[in-house]
Amino acid sequence: MSAGAAPLGLYVHWPYCARICPYCDFNVYKAANGAPDALTQALLADLGHWRARTGPRPLASVHFGGGTPSLMTPGQIEAVLARADALWGIAPGAEIGLEANPNEAAAFAGLARAGINRLSLGVQALDDASLARLGRDHDAAGALRAAETARALFSRVSIDLIYAREEQGPQDWARELDQVLALGLDHLSLYQLTIEPGTAFARQAERGRLVPPGDDAAAEMYLLTQDLTEAAGLPAYEISNHARSRKDQSVHNRLYWEGADWIAIGPGAHSRLGAHARGGRIAAEAARRPGEYIARAASGTAQAIETLDARAEAIERVLMGVRLVEDGLDTQRLHALTGHGVDEDGLSRGLARAQVRREGARIVLTRSGRAFADAVAGDLAP
Ligand code: SF4
Repeated sequence: MSAGAAPLGLYVHWPYCARICPYCDFNVYKAANGAPDALTQALLADLGHWRARTGPRPLASVHFGGGTPSLMTPGQIEAVLARADALWGIAPGAEIGLEANPNEAAAFAGLARAGINRLSLGVQALDDASLARLGRDHDAAGALRAAETARALFSRVSIDLIYAREEQGPQDWARELDQVLALGLDHLSLYQLTIEPGTAFARQAERGRLVPPGDDAAAEMYLLTQDLTEAAGLPAYEISNHARSRKDQSVHNRLYWEGADWIAIGPGAHSRLGAHARGGRIAAEAARRPGEYIARAASGTAQAIETLDARAEAIERVLMGVRLVEDGLDTQRLHALTGHGVDEDGLSRGLARAQVRREGARIVLTRSGRAFADAVAGDLAP
């Protein structure tokens, strides 16, 4: 893989959680000791193996996700950041983000001292009954207190919320969102609840014990979300992500949507590097189970690495790229990198339904198209 000035991101997956939420389909494990040093040592070893593949290039972002990376000790976070800095160099002003739960607010000061400068707070709901239903171990008042603590410690704070929940109507959601918008944060991630196969929620739905709002109600709540966030000065810059200005957007997540390069360490983490036109795009997946990842990291075999064929790469670039609200999908760049364009029939359908529009070489989702982004993007994929 050739070196270059193009931005490189680093994702660190910490797979442990104090409890497993019934809607979660991430690669997570319930652990009494949420901060094992053996995993930290494996992460450090994995970093060294990645450095041999990427060559020297500065890191534009580091993101600790999970799982619950706020269970890591400050010392463990510092060790990962120090090794990453020694191997690549963390660019001045780089985004160093971490996902945290509100009930860990006592740990926030240590996270800030360890070098975290952007905190994503998993608030998820501001209604205690919903929080209990979502399996969360914080209440609404605690979440709001944690948000204030975070704002005092980190230069950038984002809140995650889940809507289109069971028994939640548009007015309920509007009240909740208004409450969060009143905090005056510069970034929000607002996700529609999806029932993922294999989760506890999926099993409850199969038995009729969980009935989420239908597609029309969810689409109505999506459009309501756009109205309220735009009025508050936090428009969507990606399907589920809202920021006050360009500088408030998530640097790290933009790397995914733009099809840039990122390396990912930790159990089950996915990396992407390069492009078909530049000698191939590498797709790597780390061993999913923590024990296997730890056992393999020292010898450099924790990552299963393949080179994507051009079409597979093009599909990924379409599915991710079209999610960016203003930029949309740059079809010239897509063709230059992969030799593929979008599916012309799918594009015609999207145009006829007013779900997409062309802006020069770009294809941009319309407001109504964004409510069905996955389906529209699937239609565009070559
Ligand atoms: S805390 Fe987050 S990562 Fe852990 S189980 Fe819940 S939703 Fe999944």
